[in-house]
Amino acid sequence: MLGLMQHRSLALPHVFHRAEQYFGHKSIVTAGAQDESTTTVAEWAQRVRRLATVLDTLDVSADGRVGTFCWNTGRHLELYMAAPCTGRVLHTLNIRLFPDQLGYIVNHAEDEVVFVDRSLLPVLWPLVDKFETVRHFVVIDDGAVAPLPEDPRVHDYEELLAAAAPFEGTFTIDDEDSAAAMCYTSGTTGNPKGVVYSHRSAVLHALISLTADGMALSERDVVLPVVPMFHANAWGLPYGCLLAGTDMVFPGPNMTPQAIVALLEKHRVTVTGGVPTIWMGMLPLLPAHDLSALRVILCGGSAVPRVLSEGYREAIGLPMLHAWGMTETSPIATMSVLRSHHATLTEAERADVRARQGQPVPLVDLRLVDPSTGETQPWDDAATGEIQAAGPWIAAQYYRGEGEGAQFTDDGWLRTGDVATVDGYGSVRLVDRTKDLIKSGGEWIGSVELENEIMAHPKVAEAAVIAVPHPKWVERPLACVVVKPGETLTAEEVIAHLEPRVAKWWLPDAVEFIDEVPKTSVGKFSKKTLREKFGGYQVTAP
Ligand code: ADP
Repeated sequence: MLGLMQHRSLALPHVFHRAEQYFGHKSIVTAGAQDESTTTVAEWAQRVRRLATVLDTLDVSADGRVGTFCWNTGRHLELYMAAPCTGRVLHTLNIRLFPDQLGYIVNHAEDEVVFVDRSLLPVLWPLVDKFETVRHFVVIDDGAVAPLPEDPRVHDYEELLAAAAPFEGTFTIDDEDSAAAMCYTSGTTGNPKGVVYSHRSAVLHALISLTADGMALSERDVVLPVVPMFHANAWGLPYGCLLAGTDMVFPGPNMTPQAIVALLEKHRVTVTGGVPTIWMGMLPLLPAHDLSALRVILCGGSAVPRVLSEGYREAIGLPMLHAWGMTETSPIATMSVLRSHHATLTEAERADVRARQGQPVPLVDLRLVDPSTGETQPWDDAATGEIQAAGPWIAAQYYRGEGEGAQFTDDGWLRTGDVATVDGYGSVRLVDRTKDLIKSGGEWIGSVELENEIMAHPKVAEAAVIAVPHPKWVERPLACVVVKPGETLTAEEVIAHLEPRVAKWWLPDAVEFIDEVPKTSVGKFSKKTLREKFGGYQVTAP
């Protein structure tokens, strides 16, 4: 017997029309290089309607890829809706990628048009001859003074919008499985791979940010996404904000901790999110600012050091909300929220819970699999295995079927490449990425765990641990440590700090002091760069 309920497609036009209809009075602030601009959601929606017909005027095909090369701004949010609501596919390009990768991605996705912030034009323009399919470049004025190239393919965003008639009526997407947006993984191994989000996945994933055991986004919130809009759709925050009807604040080109903390204070932001690097930079600035309105600092993308989260709790009374996921999981898959069985824990024990990656959010299924035997592992917080994920916003395959077999199992689960333990309540504790694990004498050492312990040292600013070759043990850990400004630290002190905290055979064989841990294009530790730097490292321990 079939259920007799309406089958309505889960698609982004619903999110757009809901925002336009009910939340027109809400505000969208964008910080510029010198000043900030504010629009209402009603004004934004009118511009989305004009932008929809601009895409027709530019002759973008029915499901053509619409590239964006932009900061986090209210205008980028216009593209976030106009492209998918007209059946096109929003393709957010990472503004920090290497030129070769960018050229590869644009050509692989077959972008037909690229919208670019004027301040980023000097980065993009030297590459345009590599782009095989792009017919138009639309420059968005963000206050920068970069000259416009004399080229018939170049258009001015505001001129196009002013000349366009607004789309009248209701946007419709009949097939909820059609593509809404795409995002390439940053490709630490091999070429970047295209993850293609559907309307259905985008809507369901946005709903998760409204759930009580998630961020609980509501109409009363003021949200500032620090995580770039090219990094897995800013973790779904923009669509979640529009669905909930929040006020929004976008940081624009100035991503310094000083600029972000000032915006958080000025606009009484309640919810924000970004990778640990940004919050580390802001930690020393906290005492000078009133952040009493903040209720959620979403943090993920790499492990949130316990000491960082605790630093925020001590300074402003608010620890981080730790989440885990990847581009392929839209990205939110788990969140570390205190549960009722944690009620009797001490503050220190709660901090341990918050340092875990947390339980799967509703609709996401996880399993732990031993990569060598393929056997499912028990959830007892002891057995480690690779996390595999399934759910309505988890990728089933990459664009053009790449990575098949390697990344997806025969029964349709995603191999995440992350190694973890899971406790009896389903709370994940990430140990490492498979490619970063250190294999010493046949046993695994988790570099993420070691880093967290080293970063708990009060004189350490950052630490990354990598494998280096060893004649007897095959690989041993090397700790690369950044000391806080004005402090001094010796290798012996680092090891002495670790001794009571980790198994003896996990202790790094050497400690190298470096000025900064190199970062990837989305602000994570780039262990690949460190491995290249220390590739020939010789440890002589027995
Ligand atoms: P890339 O794989 O290119 O770094 P992603 O942003 O998709 O791009 O990164 C996903 C990976 O980041 C995850 O597979 C995981 O290794 C790491 N990651 C994400 N969130 C966390 C977290 N909370 N703790 C530890 N690692 C994390």
